[in-house]
Formats: sequence, structure tokens, C-alpha cells
Amino acid sequence: MKISDITPDYIRAISPYVPGKPVSDIAREFGLDEAQIIKLASNENPLGPSPKVVAAITRAAGELTRYPDGSGYDLKAMLAARYRVSADQIVLGNGSNDILELVAHAFLRPGKSAVFAQHSFAVYTLATQAFGAAGIEVPAREYGHDLAAMRAAIRDDTSVAWLANPNNPTGTWLPAAEIKAFIASVPSNVLVVLDEAYNEYLLPEQQADTASWLAEYPHLILSRTFSKAYGLAALRIGYGLMHADVAAMLNRVRQPFNVNSLAQAAAIAALEDTDYVRRSYALNRQGMQQLEAGFRRLALTFIPSHGNFICVKVGNAAKMNLALLRRGVIVRPVGNYGMPEFLRVTIGTAKENERFLDALAAVLQE
Ligand SMILES: *Cc1c(COP(=O)(O)O)cnc(C)c1O
Repeated sequence: MKISDITPDYIRAISPYVPGKPVSDIAREFGLDEAQIIKLASNENPLGPSPKVVAAITRAAGELTRYPDGSGYDLKAMLAARYRVSADQIVLGNGSNDILELVAHAFLRPGKSAVFAQHSFAVYTLATQAFGAAGIEVPAREYGHDLAAMRAAIRDDTSVAWLANPNNPTGTWLPAAEIKAFIASVPSNVLVVLDEAYNEYLLPEQQADTASWLAEYPHLILSRTFSKAYGLAALRIGYGLMHADVAAMLNRVRQPFNVNSLAQAAAIAALEDTDYVRRSYALNRQGMQQLEAGFRRLALTFIPSHGNFICVKVGNAAKMNLALLRRGVIVRPVGNYGMPEFLRVTIGTAKENERFLDALAAVLQE
């Protein structure tokens, strides 16, 4: 017997999350200069941090010996005003990944199940498995969520439905009316976690006031992050909006100081810096067009995306990925998402996009 055998079977069965490789790893592995490598693998913001955020962190650094505010009072007050909810409807997380895990921790266990779509965010499977619940993967339709099939897949033992809109890694998106109809159709004892990590990249006419739905649907949880359009991926901060009763359950399993003080200060500054989010959005729109045009020139199929990334069909993506890595271009193969012919590419700066397209054209010739 190995000591690791004493862990439950459902923990041993987990396939670990495969993150995008850091630049330093690739430099070492392929003998490249870090300065020549571009990383378009983890849907990070190519703008770099907002100077206002950097200033806020510098100020907060004077208080490093103190524990952070475990209630996140100031940040919650800002979010409450913005979404017109009360502070007790907000749970802050160490990344929105933390929110997803808190939901699983509080609401899933062996004997329960959770529903999610094929080609959806890996953390839904991971969080479900980590608490011993059964994952029900529902086949996608044209790479997007098949809401009718997801509704039909809900069983008596189902406690959670995970739903990303826009979805990662496919970039597909469903209109608010369809999402709302799904929430209304789901039994009220099943939580719907609507993960809106890429919400800020939607066109204004695609945006919906989903927070206003909370009053009507106590089984709805909205998940948002500062990692993408706000450019704070390194700090790990996100939040959930939900009914106060649900928040009270998440807070029972939340680490008392799960969100550090630099992240809280940064998030407040980031919310105030509306110009940064506007620039993130604009750069993403331009970059998306640039990549789409490049793919058309190369006669490559892509999945139209509503996020800050796009999936392009390249045949043997694992092989293509390796060839790109040799040229110092890090993107994400998505074979582990059931899409072995696709690469997911994060929208970068105009220069990064161009370098990626040049490298792609070159490796297609190899
Ligand atoms: C990136 C992403 C998140 C955000 O993760 P953080 O933990 O907040 O960095 C959440 N959901 C989806 C679908 C994502 O792609």
C-alpha cells in the first residue's frame, strides 16, 4: 500500500489541471531568450497592469504585516453599488476559481451530481470531482452549450449546473434571454452558476443586467473575475453575486482571509479605472479582427469567439503547438477539452498577433 492510497478514489481519479506554460519554462526547455517569447496561452490581458492599480498596490504594501480585511468591506461596498445588490450577496474569492470551489464545497458531495457542457471550463470538472460528486457532461452543439440538453440532463441528485457565457475554450456565447429561460426552467433546488469571466468583452448590445435576475432566482450564482479585462490575473481576485442565504453557506467554507490586501486594493483601483477596461475591450476587438483576417488568409477554420481568445483549427494541434513553441510562441492546445484539432490563442497586442500569425504561417509550411 502507498500512503497516497488512503485518499478517496474520487481524488485519485482527478486529472490535474494543465496550465499554460510560463515564459521561463519555455525559455529553458527550448533554449530561447525570454525577451523573444510571446505568451498567448492563458487569456491574460496584453495591456499590462493599469498604472493606477500599481500605485494602489504600492500604497497597500505599507500594511503587509496586517491580515487583510476578511470581509472585504470596501470592495464589496463598491460592487454592491455597481450591481445594486446588498453586500451580503457578495462573496470575494482568491480568483473566481475560488468561488467555483466554494460552491462545490458547500453544495456537492458523494451522491450528488453537477451538470456542465462538453468543451467547457476544466475547473467545473475539477471542482465537482474534488468533492466526490458525479460530473454529467452534456454534448455541445456547434461547440456551444445545448441548453435544452443540459436541462434534460439534470437528475434528482443534481445540485449544480455550471454554465460559462461566453464559454472558455470555445468562445461561444448565448443571448441573455436564452440563459434566463434556462435558469427559469431549472428546478429551484439546483444552483445555476453563471460564469461571466469574459463579460466585459461582449458588445454593448450583448451585455445584460444579469445581477437584476438574482431577486427572481435565488438558485442563481453569478461569477466574475478581475483576471481578464481588469488585468489582475497574478493577484487572484474574483467574486460571486448570489442570494444572501447562498453567500452565507459559501462563507462557512471560505478561508477567513482568502483574498489578500494587495488584491483588494488593486480591485478597487481597477473598478475605478474605467478607461483601462475600455482600452482592453478596444484592443481585443481590433486583435480579434486581425486574427480572423489572418486565419482567412491562411484558409484556416476558426470558431467565432466572444472572449479575449479564439480557437483555430490546425489539424494536428499537438504537433503544431510544438512547432510554435520552438519559435517562441506559446498558445494553448485544447486536446484535453476534446478538441484535438484546435489551438486556443489569446488575443494579444497588434505586434504579438502579427508575430503569432507569421509563426503560424511558417509552421504550416513545415
Ligand atoms: C479565466 C476564467 C476564469 C477566471 O479565473 P480566475 O480564477 O478568476 O483567474 C473563470 N472562468 C472561466 C471560464 C475562465 O476562463
